[in-house]
Amino acid sequence: MRIVVDWDKCTGMGMCESLAPDVFEVDDDGSLILHTEEVSQDQEAEVREAVAACPTEALSLEGPIDA
Ligand code: SF4
Repeated sequence: MRIVVDWDKCTGMGMCESLAPDVFEVDDDGSLILHTEEVSQDQEAEVREAVAACPTEALSLEGPIDA
């Protein structure tokens, strides 16, 4: 499963980072950094929470888990 970011929608609010800090980081400029696009099974639950929590709906998931 892959994380897809709509960069036009991301406003760097950092909700994703607080829920899944291993995957998402917001730098000092408010730019989102993805540490990985591929989501492992271990990360799936927190990544799903982060995707659901993004206030601007900038995040989505694509493909099967463990792909
Ligand atoms: S929560 Fe959404 S808007 Fe905020 S940094 Fe993450 S992807 Fe961007």
